[in-house]
Amino acid sequence: MQAEIISVGTELLLGQIVDTNAAYLSRVLSSLGIDLYHRTTVGDNETRIAEAVRVAFETSDIVITIGGLGPTQDDLTKETVAKTLDIELLFDAEAAERIRGFFESRKLPMAESNLKQAVRPAVGRTIPNPVGTAPGAIFEKDGKSVICLPGPPVELIPMVTETVSPYLRDKRGPTAEIIKSRVLRTAGIGESAMEQMVKDLLQSGNPTVAPLVGRGEAQLRITAKASSEEIADVMIAEVETKLKERLGSYIYGVDDETLEQVVVRALIERGLTIGLAESCTGGLIADRITNVPGSSAAFLAGVTSYSNKSKTELLGVSEDILKEYGAVSGPAAEAMAQGARRAAGADIGIGVTGVAGPGGGTPQKPIGLVYIALSRKEDAHPAAERTYSQEFKFSGDRRNIKQRASQAALIMLRNELL
Ligand code: ATP
Ligand code: MG
Repeated sequence: MQAEIISVGTELLLGQIVDTNAAYLSRVLSSLGIDLYHRTTVGDNETRIAEAVRVAFETSDIVITIGGLGPTQDDLTKETVAKTLDIELLFDAEAAERIRGFFESRKLPMAESNLKQAVRPAVGRTIPNPVGTAPGAIFEKDGKSVICLPGPPVELIPMVTETVSPYLRDKRGPTAEIIKSRVLRTAGIGESAMEQMVKDLLQSGNPTVAPLVGRGEAQLRITAKASSEEIADVMIAEVETKLKERLGSYIYGVDDETLEQVVVRALIERGLTIGLAESCTGGLIADRITNVPGSSAAFLAGVTSYSNKSKTELLGVSEDILKEYGAVSGPAAEAMAQGARRAAGADIGIGVTGVAGPGGGTPQKPIGLVYIALSRKEDAHPAAERTYSQEFKFSGDRRNIKQRASQAALIMLRNELL
């Protein structure tokens, strides 16, 4: 079975938004074993939408349009598809009620134009929209389907998981081959070093193993082609075991798991708490940690300390250290980590200081130079503590350097907990 995706929106053609919906749908189609040979993008123009739909419908069994289901003038997709396929649109009283209810429950006035969305194809079905007002539609003709989905990803994704995926799975039938992937995520190892350790395993045919770089880390993607998801899972698990034997603790998680989730879980499991002192990361580490639900059990406080004065007054970094080594130095990072631990009353403190650029670099302290320190109360001697720091040299722009520094701090914390 073959599909084509048509993304509708002048915004897409102008490069103002990125087509994340088409990328998402492509992944869904491949996981269902449905071939996708073409993706088209077309502006909010009736003639061109009609032409794109006509051409796609000729060659594909499934055409999926994205966007243009809303109430405004430039939202033309459903009407255009109906005309192109010569299928009538019927008023859908149920959808109209839901749209009215949507506005009532939010105490918002409703423009009559919203009811324009309350239509369904005479041949086909509606796709309920649990989040927004515009329902989607599936037009059916000659055993083929045109599926119309709304633009906002928060609406599109649940409509796909709840209605479109089951519909496509049904239509595809039980025999097709499906493709399934799993991404292994690593920390503390670069792409080429990782590749070196698993080189021979990259040659395999099915499942395939491919190295990639994403979110500032080296990853491995295992992809299996099989007649069912269960079989693919078994094939993937076999390769995953081999890769884990090689890479050991470099692998911290799979798929959408994040380093911060893993670190927060490890802290909670060990009953440990943490405080942060962040200079060049500006609170990014605290942001990442507090993005994890339940992090309040481990995260006590974070200080974003930019000026020398605040390092002294809020964190107790001595003026002597700042004078002798400078604010960007190992000793300063260590004093910050100790200060963060004490100020938060936590078991572990982390201090980060560095030069994020683009200004402020010197030959001695170049842009990208970052010191990260960790201070921990010794379990054996509650009064004693252990503090250490590490020097890093990151490349990239200000944002990259902040991101990499936050990543390195979380890796250091993870290594401490392992
Ligand atoms: P609405 O009812 O919000 O108007 P719609 O179905 O008419 O929804 P569009 O008007 O085409 O959709 O787009 C609405 C918004 O959805 C866009 O401004 C953009 O933020 C997002 N969006 C649209 N198409 C895509 C896409 N292909 N990928 C990611 N986001 C998209
Ligand atoms: Mg719109």
